[in-house]
Amino acid sequence: MSRFRSSRFGGIEVYVPGEQPRDKKYIKLNTNESPYPPSPAVLSAAGGAAWNLNLYCDPTARRLRAATAEVFGVEPECVLPVNGSDEILDFAFMAFCDSSTAVAYPETSYGFYPVLAGLHGIEKREIPLKKDFSVDCRDYLGLGCTIVIANPNAPTGLALGLEDIEKILRSNPDNVVVVDEAYVDFGAESAIPLTKHYGNLLVTRTFSKSHSLAGARLGFGVACPELIADLTAIKDCTNPYNVNAMTQAAGVAAFEDNGIYMSNCRAVAETRDKTASELRALGFELTDSKANFLFLRHPAVSGGELYARLREKGILVRHFSKPSIEDYNRVTVGSPDEMEAFISAVKEVLHEKG
Ligand code: PMP
Repeated sequence: MSRFRSSRFGGIEVYVPGEQPRDKKYIKLNTNESPYPPSPAVLSAAGGAAWNLNLYCDPTARRLRAATAEVFGVEPECVLPVNGSDEILDFAFMAFCDSSTAVAYPETSYGFYPVLAGLHGIEKREIPLKKDFSVDCRDYLGLGCTIVIANPNAPTGLALGLEDIEKILRSNPDNVVVVDEAYVDFGAESAIPLTKHYGNLLVTRTFSKSHSLAGARLGFGVACPELIADLTAIKDCTNPYNVNAMTQAAGVAAFEDNGIYMSNCRAVAETRDKTASELRALGFELTDSKANFLFLRHPAVSGGELYARLREKGILVRHFSKPSIEDYNRVTVGSPDEMEAFISAVKEVLHEKG
């Protein structure tokens, strides 16, 4: 740290993204990307937009907002496109939390939430999960602070039903509830239709997982026009041209091809369920993941050892050192071939353990 850094940011915790190693070719099952490439129309739309890179992009992302609104049956003023859903989470922490409004979220969840709370000096209320890793919606009733819930949750993959989300919304009418739906397309129910009925609901989404665009950095939020106006004000004060021209064009084309992406999501869910039963037959314990990853442990090999042994065999998964989940690994669901290679490597590790 230099002597110039503001004391406000002296002791901040930084987010550590999953590895993107370049030392050799791995089967990458560690950052929940899609195993399928973007559709040809997306590649050509992004390439076409490159011809105008001498010009600033549309700061209002008008076409992309319209395309998003059409897919979800909402009005364009209920949508804000962002530079990856991490950006709208940042905007939401700035817009809806402060020194008197804390933020609550599940203690085991997306690691970016505590980082954002730390960055903005917001009090954190970390709510433990139940023993089976599920979120108990009763823990979120009448909290009187901003609430953020990933649904499905990460890294557990477990999803809440909309009845539970509605209970949380109804019992916290004076606070914003953010439902982070990064993984919803793989098997959970979206709360987007509820944004028409609850003025305190913000749903955040990403193109990184279900729409094969992690590298393009594209996400969006859906909420009532007033919440979107608050978030847009923060966007315009920090990065008015937040979504670049190629990414805006790619997003529009991806929604025009939505059928292809939804069918990719179904393929991922099928591969997930098949891999889960193979792993159960090998003695693994797994949560009932509704996301594009599995959360697993084996009684005969520690989480850290499984991670390290798979890495030696060229397969990268995600291990978290947090004590409550250190026995576990999170494994992204790749293509059927990649998952076959993963299962073979796991069998070798178990065999070598004796
Ligand atoms: N929410 C959750 C729960 C995530 O796991 C991720 C991916 N790291 C994100 C949001 C952010 O995704 P992105 O910024 O790529 O849209």
